[in-house]
Amino acid sequence: MTEKYRIILTGAGGKMGKDILAGIMKEPDIQVVGAVDFKMIGKDIGFYAGEEAINVTIQDKLEQVIIDTKPQIMIDFTNPQAVMKNIRTALSHKVASVVGTTGLTSHDVEELAELTEKHQTPVFIAPNFALGAVLMMRFAQEAGKYFPHVEVIEKHHDQKMDAPSGTALKTMEMIAESRKEMHQGASHEFEKIPGSRGGYYQGMRVHSVRLPGLIAHQEVIFGGQGQTLTIRHDSLSRDSFVPGVLLAIRNILNMKGVVYGLEKLLW
Ligand code: NAP
Repeated sequence: MTEKYRIILTGAGGKMGKDILAGIMKEPDIQVVGAVDFKMIGKDIGFYAGEEAINVTIQDKLEQVIIDTKPQIMIDFTNPQAVMKNIRTALSHKVASVVGTTGLTSHDVEELAELTEKHQTPVFIAPNFALGAVLMMRFAQEAGKYFPHVEVIEKHHDQKMDAPSGTALKTMEMIAESRKEMHQGASHEFEKIPGSRGGYYQGMRVHSVRLPGLIAHQEVIFGGQGQTLTIRHDSLSRDSFVPGVLLAIRNILNMKGVVYGLEKLLW
């Protein structure tokens, strides 16, 4: 077999980090050589996959882990405050980044475009690694051509920091490519409780639900004359993100610059 991909994961002690590690460590072409988090320091990640210890423990200093383990790829599932610093560190050591953390701004992506050029090392970003969610976005984009009145309801667990979700934003961006900005709802509508009508994006409305028990769910509801159309996706467990992350790992070393969205690897 050809050489294994040498991977480190930042956010290894988090909800996504644990499940992504458990999923990718089973793959014969992947070797997880390092793990970074500020909690669970010293824990051997072998236990995540229900295996024995593999002598890879969680450490808290990314740069040192990179120097010690010489990875090709960093996978980041941290938080919006940490992710840019982590990617800058990885790029400065010519380590490619697969980024699942949401909350990156267009300004961040512009900075990354410059840094990937400077270091000749790619960054892949996907606000949603679930194949079904990517299909939901594509179907919603198609429906938006015929049904311009649309509201997005995204639902996540109550520890999620950013709102709306990266998936909701990306969905509305994709719909906006084929739909002109327009006002929705009554022309004189007003809110009795601020925020009741949700966030505004080019006339579309987005509503973010945060509750314990949820993972990641989204409905895109289109309204037309005498009918509605609902396109819905549910991630029922964090396993749903593993195949997309594996696809990114197996493709990133052939990429250039910043590549944004799992759909770029699908069609
Ligand atoms: P989480 O449970 O809070 O995990 C994040 C972990 O990262 C925490 O253990 C946190 O430690 C750690 N961390 C913070 N700063 C760090 C740093 N500089 N270096 C290393 N580790 C650091 O959050 P989650 O639910 O796993 O989600 C993580 C991210 O993935 C979020 O942005 C979420 O929106 C995103 N997400 C993306 C997808 C997708 O398909 N793209 C799917 C689901 C979730 P502390 O708690 O000590 O800060």
